[in-house]
Amino acid sequence: MIVKHNKNEFEDYLVDASAFEGFADELVIPESVEEIKQILKEATEKSQKITISGAGTGLTGSRVPLGGKILSMERFNKVINLDKERKTLKVESFVRIEEIAEFLAGSGLFYPPNPTEKLATIGGNIGNNASGARTYKYGATRKYINSIDVVLPTGDSKTIRRGEIFANEYNFEFFTDEGARISFELPKVQMPKVKHAAGYFVEPNMDLIDLFIGAEGTLGVVTSAELQLLASPEQVLGAIIFFDEHEGMFEFLNEIRKVDAVVLPRLIEFFDDNSIMLLRGTIPHIPKSALYALWIEIETSNEKSDETLANLYVFTSQFTSLVDDTWIALNDQEHKRLAHFRHQLPLAVYEKIQQYKQQKLGTDSAVPNEFVKEYYEYIVNLFKQEQLEYVIWGHIGNSHFHANILTKDSDEFNRARKIYVDILARAVSLGGTISAEHGIGKLKKEYLRLLYSEDVIEGFRKIKKAFDPQNVLNVGNIF
Ligand SMILES: Cc1cc2nc3c(=O)[nH]c(=O)nc-3n(C[C@H](O)[C@H](O)[C@H](O)COP(=O)(O)OP(=O)(O)OC[C@H]3O[C@@H](n4cnc5c(N)ncnc54)[C@H](O)[C@@H]3O)c2cc1C
Repeated sequence: MIVKHNKNEFEDYLVDASAFEGFADELVIPESVEEIKQILKEATEKSQKITISGAGTGLTGSRVPLGGKILSMERFNKVINLDKERKTLKVESFVRIEEIAEFLAGSGLFYPPNPTEKLATIGGNIGNNASGARTYKYGATRKYINSIDVVLPTGDSKTIRRGEIFANEYNFEFFTDEGARISFELPKVQMPKVKHAAGYFVEPNMDLIDLFIGAEGTLGVVTSAELQLLASPEQVLGAIIFFDEHEGMFEFLNEIRKVDAVVLPRLIEFFDDNSIMLLRGTIPHIPKSALYALWIEIETSNEKSDETLANLYVFTSQFTSLVDDTWIALNDQEHKRLAHFRHQLPLAVYEKIQQYKQQKLGTDSAVPNEFVKEYYEYIVNLFKQEQLEYVIWGHIGNSHFHANILTKDSDEFNRARKIYVDILARAVSLGGTISAEHGIGKLKKEYLRLLYSEDVIEGFRKIKKAFDPQNVLNVGNIF
């Protein structure tokens, strides 16, 4: 085990991608499960705080310590086993998303969740139930986690396999590998029926593994996980479709999301007019009259790809006069061009934020599909009324986009913070959520109260207490 006491040796671990900064006494880097068990046992005995660190790409300060020790999982970085027959991959928790994709390249198998940030680790993705563009077709991380090996805050351990331990209605009882009994009651709450990552996952008769996924590291340290893989499609057709107004774009979205649509995408990503304007600065040949764009991917086969392309053309021509300007991708290089278009945007926004020297405010809310256009227009009107600069893009297939407010001074920032709350409250009033993928962490706790009553949040605290009686692990996340 490596231990570092000197702050300048662990400064990088005091922040995450949100730029929120914390503090700690030391950094510990365990090299075995036994060491993690010892560290946690001692922390509970001495009531010392411990914060689990993944790659630090989180956007809510959830890996940022507020005192005590940082527990970095960086030595748990090995792929353990690929089982081609069962289509499963066992990995240690610090294996990065890009490493999983590289490992599986050419195997005919793939891991469906694909969050945009490829440096993130599987442990962090489990912590936040991360999702990505393909979540539109395949769902989020949760669906692809078959089992996890966990060390609990007391130092006990547990292998939790999907399908083995269920709640009896709202009551859980199970035993750790060392024989300790853990029992607790779930709060009776209905989670929003949209893509959702705010607070614990709770439903009657649920599987114990689902409580850990999205728990932001508050219930235990995941040391390894078995992932479910799928057979790769033979061919993927990618397209960036441009629109010169947003009405047609939303009509396209409504129609293509129907189960009997002539083309069925696996992802639908959105770029608003301000995104397109920003991208013109770095990406050549964007059609002159394009104001909005959707990036879609459709799984097909070599034999059917011409037919898929023809169907897409006919379908698209009903909704945009810019159909002939559509960018198509069939080979690797063309797909890279579309991915580059998508990935340049956060970078361009980041540059603006650097220039303005203000904190970025970005939403992570989602609403039921029938309200997505209304919600988008509501947000845009608010920004325009307040004369705030904004950029909106994201996973519109799941009616989930990130509305980013770029403020230039503290007056703008304070006005933006006020309407930020209105935007989240509106999502909740439409039956949506305040966070669809980034979680609550330390930065969004006040907004969880827009979604859940104090009783529900108290119910979450009681769950935490059952696992972590001395409240030592990832303290300050969620509640
Ligand atoms: C440019 C950019 C794009 C992004 N795009 C997406 C996206 O498309 N979808 C998305 O969902 N997110 C996205 N994110 C957010 C981020 O990548 C995810 O939240 C990711 O899951 C964090 O993983 P990490 O390894 O960096 O975890 P960290 O940030 O280090 O930690 C995140 C949480 O997980 C906990 N944790 C980490 N490892 C473990 C473990 N082994 N056991 C238990 N708990 C653990 C931490 O304590 C913390 O609470 C993006 C971020 C950036 C900067």
